[in-house]
Amino acid sequence: MVRWERSVRSIERFLCPCGKGNFGTKHIVEEHEMFSDRTREEYEEFFECHECSKFYHRNGNKLIKNEDIQRLNELKGNLNSLSKQHYAYLSKTYRDQVIQFFTNTKKTVLWKMLSHRDIGISREGTVETFRKYLNKWGIESYVDSNIKDAFSYRKMVNLMQVKDAILEQKDNEMHEIIKQIRDETEAIKELWFVTKDI
Ligand SMILES: [Zn+2]
Repeated sequence: MVRWERSVRSIERFLCPCGKGNFGTKHIVEEHEMFSDRTREEYEEFFECHECSKFYHRNGNKLIKNEDIQRLNELKGNLNSLSKQHYAYLSKTYRDQVIQFFTNTKKTVLWKMLSHRDIGISREGTVETFRKYLNKWGIESYVDSNIKDAFSYRKMVNLMQVKDAILEQKDNEMHEIIKQIRDETEAIKELWFVTKDI
């Protein structure tokens, strides 16, 4: 059986908020018993303070309060479910129109629109592969398999310049929650506990 010699190459250690413990990362190297040039390495994180490890989450040499992360995750969860509802509304209301739009627009023009950096629905391939796909699988298949989330659907519908009060309302809800997430992320950064090396 092959044996590996395990040793700690270096330790990066930081003081925890209460000042009684520490946390950090161990750089561990394993050398092959027979061939010392064969090595494996890993980084092992440790948190040696029972109290602080209950309340903080690590982010490199910074610590974030668990409750702050939880609040942020809740907001992200809200965005996720809102975005699913948004997608459901868009695909239910606009699928036929989108397909119609595809049918009535010249493929080269359509391709340019879809691969434009502001739309970005089709970032890969060329206009030829796009055309081939449509010929082989059809427009419906393209729409259903490439416009799969609220953001791309919204961009697609945007190209068609529709007027829809419900949609505007939904857009506002989405923007509001995205803004909340951004603000919350900024606020949390202010509260990060920046630790010092010990
Ligand atoms: Zn502590």
